[in-house]
Amino acid sequence: MSTQILILGSGGREHALAWKLAQSSLVKHIFVCPGNPGSAKNQKTSNLDLPLIHPYKDLVDFAVNKKIDLVLPGPEDPLVLGVEKCFRDVGIPVFGPTKLAARMEGSKAFSKDFMHRHAIPTAKFRTFSSSQLQDATDYVQTCGHPVVLKASGLAGGKGVLIPSSTDEAIQGLRSIMVDNAFGSAGDEVVIEELLEGPEISVLAFSDGYTIVPLPAAQDHKRIGEGDTGLNTGGMGAYAPAPVATPAIMDRIMTESLRPTIDGMRKEGFPFVGLLFTGFMLTADGPKVLEYNVRFGDPETEALMMLLSDDVDLAAVLLACAERHLDSVQINTRPGFSVSVILVSGGYPESYAKGKPVNVGEVPSDVVVFHCGTSMSGNDLVTSGGRVMAVTCSAPTLEQALTQVYAAVDKISFEGKFYRRDIAHRALASSSQAPSNGLTY
Ligand code: AMP
Repeated sequence: MSTQILILGSGGREHALAWKLAQSSLVKHIFVCPGNPGSAKNQKTSNLDLPLIHPYKDLVDFAVNKKIDLVLPGPEDPLVLGVEKCFRDVGIPVFGPTKLAARMEGSKAFSKDFMHRHAIPTAKFRTFSSSQLQDATDYVQTCGHPVVLKASGLAGGKGVLIPSSTDEAIQGLRSIMVDNAFGSAGDEVVIEELLEGPEISVLAFSDGYTIVPLPAAQDHKRIGEGDTGLNTGGMGAYAPAPVATPAIMDRIMTESLRPTIDGMRKEGFPFVGLLFTGFMLTADGPKVLEYNVRFGDPETEALMMLLSDDVDLAAVLLACAERHLDSVQINTRPGFSVSVILVSGGYPESYAKGKPVNVGEVPSDVVVFHCGTSMSGNDLVTSGGRVMAVTCSAPTLEQALTQVYAAVDKISFEGKFYRRDIAHRALASSSQAPSNGLTY
């Protein structure tokens, strides 16, 4: 019980990671920079107010002075900027990829070329620089299939356009390549084939050699029930997704995930950390939509609660950093885990902040992870679009949903909004009928 961990980030993902790590018998203390009021509540956890700016000088000094044993970056930006090296240079291991390996998320053009080199199933594509508007337009007009347009760089999850006609696609190209709708993230544009099918997220631990996937999760990106309205950072997630059958997970491992880890190592940038791969389950099999080089939000909230009590997350993270992941077991509970996100009214467009939040008595097996909250004096108030991730795991999906929505009713703030149909796809595909009064 001597390990000290530094988590970078402030959302529900970081709170969920801190929550699970706090249960580890190895862990003495967890610092979260900057964290949120939820992550500050645990006795083994404190928040830290230091600048999160590359090259993270103050944080590195803090980590050295405090004898931090492991750093866990939550979001992608620090990883893409090279935070791993900042800590490695002072001898502190990071659970997360090097700057070179983080290109798998930082540049879609890079990751698509990588997939092509390693015959990893993905949508057909071409890449264009922003000076090639005419070539890109010609391609959209002649490729013979509906397309998706992607700004290659990091665009905060917003850099993808799905046009509904060739004209709209050409307008989309102009907006990215001429009007800089996504800033420098659009300096290169990937145009790819539109894929159809259910979408799943597979989060997998790797030490560069071994890869261990968690059960597949499904996120709910759209703000409205029935997957309607604007895209968000995620309105809820659940796992395991029944659509990812054992046969599909086998294909994902053999056709995509193992070749990815082996290919990265062979090309000289082994992946250490959490690889979060988005898949479309097409009629031709699972195809990779994108790689993320870190935990996803809100999948992480659901998955942390799905891990068995006997999983020591600190031991898993250290085993990855120390290259012996094959020595640890990562078991999950039987049943399902569900996380429902409460958002501020108006999100993902403009919304009010600073609204007092009241959390009443929630069922004991529900955990309320904080996403966008802060303290105003002694009061808990909203400070972001996504405010809380109400999460529960239970032997059946129906039980998990009943508990989660009972807890949702106990939390109040002005403008509270949430989707009532989280996990509707799993309910629709399974023989279980919802009997908790919810309509799907
Ligand atoms: P990405 O950031 O590449 O995962 O894209 C964001 C979202 O856009 C994905 O979660 C999908 O819902 C959608 N998307 C991305 N690529 C495609 C594609 N080739 N076909 C259909 N939808 C896609």
